[in-house]
Amino acid sequence: MRTVVIGGGICGLAVAHRLARAGVEVTLLEASDQLGGLGTFFPWRDRWVERFYHCVMPTDENLLPLLGELGLRDDVCWERTSMGMIVDGTHYPFNSALDLLRFTALGVVDRVRFGVISVLLRRLGKGKDLDNLRTEDWLRGLYGDKVWENLFAPLFGSKFGAAFGDVPALYLWQRLGRERNVAVRGYPAGGYKSIIDALRASIESHGGTVRTSAAVRVLRDGEVELDGETIRADRIVSTLPLPALRQVADGELAPLLPSVNLRYQGVVNALFVLRKPLSGHYWTPVLRSGTEFDGVVEMSPLTGPVDGRHLAYVMRYTGRDSSLFAEDESAIAARWTDQLRSLHPGADVEEVHVFRAPFVEPVYPVGYLASRPEVEVAGTSLLLATTAHVYPSVTSWNSSVGLANRVSETILRTAASMSPDGEPVP
Ligand SMILES: Cc1cc2nc3c(=O)[nH]c(=O)nc-3n(C[C@H](O)[C@H](O)[C@H](O)COP(=O)(O)OP(=O)(O)OC[C@H]3O[C@@H](n4cnc5c(N)ncnc54)[C@H](O)[C@@H]3O)c2cc1C
Repeated sequence: MRTVVIGGGICGLAVAHRLARAGVEVTLLEASDQLGGLGTFFPWRDRWVERFYHCVMPTDENLLPLLGELGLRDDVCWERTSMGMIVDGTHYPFNSALDLLRFTALGVVDRVRFGVISVLLRRLGKGKDLDNLRTEDWLRGLYGDKVWENLFAPLFGSKFGAAFGDVPALYLWQRLGRERNVAVRGYPAGGYKSIIDALRASIESHGGTVRTSAAVRVLRDGEVELDGETIRADRIVSTLPLPALRQVADGELAPLLPSVNLRYQGVVNALFVLRKPLSGHYWTPVLRSGTEFDGVVEMSPLTGPVDGRHLAYVMRYTGRDSSLFAEDESAIAARWTDQLRSLHPGADVEEVHVFRAPFVEPVYPVGYLASRPEVEVAGTSLLLATTAHVYPSVTSWNSSVGLANRVSETILRTAASMSPDGEPVP
């Protein structure tokens, strides 16, 4: 059975790895000249640095076993990291009950309420139909209007834009299960590139083919067209975000694709190379403090300094049609450097690199479990493995690997019921 996998992000790589190991003839096609998708990297000094901040969580129950298979699990360095918060220009640590008591961005009563409800939140959500409940309705009801308006709306809204209140409460509930303020986080010793390289090596050593600079221009049932080349396959797995998939699907296939019309948030993200660390917190949301970016991720608490420098990412999730997304990189770099210095007057900036990605977070509507597309596109040889399929899990390498496992199992089940010439076994 010949399988083509479209997209060389973590999902496509993990599908191709699973299939190649199981003896399936697999070809992976990646449009860009690099594998890794949102986990890609750029050359910096004598090493590679991720364009977008990434870390591993101890709860990554799909990713960690994959790293084990690749011989990389023991290379993950774990650190206990902390969280800060900047609200109206004031810096707060945000990790303990004492921090909360001193968190003057909320009144005393709201601080206590925030603490009590937050401890109980996971339990309060159990058994509730959170998929059909708007996040705003759930959190306003539990925490009250002030906490919603002053904290949650700007905090989580930064990821989904104005629509955050409409996202199902289930997404937030799942996210709280994955992330904590004081959290042990992991980072692979060789960076994310070491995982991508190991996946490529595994695919190729099992007889699979990995091609970069191989953009699929047209997708038909059982056939992909690249520049000047057509490849036929018994099964095709697309890991492209749904809007990108619709752009390449031909007139016959397009009507068979899932009709769900998801909006996606993209991201604009700047990496600052600093001579001194900023706050020592891994993650600091920035609320109403005169910046266009919504948060700062400092890598030094997790990875230590790199070549004597401290790497810090700042990010703004935004639609790919926004003016910020289209803006010149040097203009963003200059403005965001001033804004970072307004938060951290001592920020000693050496370099700034701006990166963006158009499809990062699907903005799930309430009741999405009922409209979430199936992995198999009925009546075709096509399977879909996209971030639109991982809900209610949080979009992450872990959930993409879990989805890749599911999709490859589906293919292997079909392969087992086919004769060597591709005909179904009666
Ligand atoms: C700022 C940021 C921070 C993040 N932080 C974390 C984190 O800390 N931990 C974590 O686990 N996850 C994190 N994530 C999420 C994680 O990166 C994604 O969920 C994951 O990488 C999605 O993988 P994917 O393979 O589904 O999609 P993608 O990585 O988007 O891969 C899709 C691939 O398809 C390729 N492609 C597109 N069109 C074509 C075509 N026509 N032909 C061939 N190929 C094509 C693209 O070039 C791309 O390589 C973060 C993401 C961002 C943006």
